Amino acid sequence: MEIKTNSPKETQKVAQRLTQDLVPGDVIALYGDLGAGKTVFVQGLAKGLKIKRNITSPTFVFMRSYPFTFKKKLLTFYHLDLYRGEEKSDFESLGLQEVFSQDAIIVLEWAEKIKNSLPKKRVDISIEKIDEKKRRIKIERHR
Ligand code: ADP
Ligand code: MG
Repeated sequence: MEIKTNSPKETQKVAQRLTQDLVPGDVIALYGDLGAGKTVFVQGLAKGLKIKRNITSPTFVFMRSYPFTFKKKLLTFYHLDLYRGEEKSDFESLGLQEVFSQDAIIVLEWAEKIKNSLPKKRVDISIEKIDEKKRRIKIERHR
């Protein structure tokens, strides 16, 4: 699926809508250059999941977790930003396989950095900057 948006708000709406199809265990891999709108998209996901806390990029800590309830079940929303990761050990220390195996919703910015470690079953989202306000968002679910 491909959608164009004209504002950050519209991008968040797309993300919010996506949360309606999410189930615990889903991994969402975000791709796109710096400033494309990945974090904006994550904020939309959080909104859709009714997470009240303000989401900013976990640039230095790599990973932040937010509890939320989904169908009366307490789950965790993991937001990872791998931008600053370089060494294999940076990623290994996150214990990603353990995170991926959880009953959580996991979203990764700069997912391409761990391409070979991503679960096959995931949602790939690429965001491309067309101009200052316009973005092209591609959503692909791999089952
Ligand atoms: P990334 O996490 O991909 O590096 P951010 O989400 O932090 O990017 O920043 C995207 C920037 O682009 C924000 O300043 C946002 O306001 C701006 N922007 C402008 N138009 C859009 C749009 N249509 N969708 C998302 N962000 C947009
Ligand atoms: Mg970001």
